[in-house]
Amino acid sequence: MDGLFFLIIVPTGIFLVFLYFVIKAAVKNGIIEAHDEIKAHEDSDEDDGNSIEQTSCPQCSSKHDIDCLACPSCGHKYNS
Ligand SMILES: [Zn+2]
Repeated sequence: MDGLFFLIIVPTGIFLVFLYFVIKAAVKNGIIEAHDEIKAHEDSDEDDGNSIEQTSCPQCSSKHDIDCLACPSCGHKYNS
């Protein structure tokens, strides 16, 4: 076996394993936003609004999560 072969393959293999864990950690922490949005959408489909309290918008009276900073329907802002 050529020594140069291992000199290239071994560091490349270590780098790919390292990259895999970095991406895995990034997804878990929500750094990769696209994945996080998909996960949030899946969660909202699964639950029936029991986990997050719902509130009605005073402007358009549409129901949405109580922790929303603004109404998703009309954009009414709640921050005082
Ligand atoms: Zn509204």
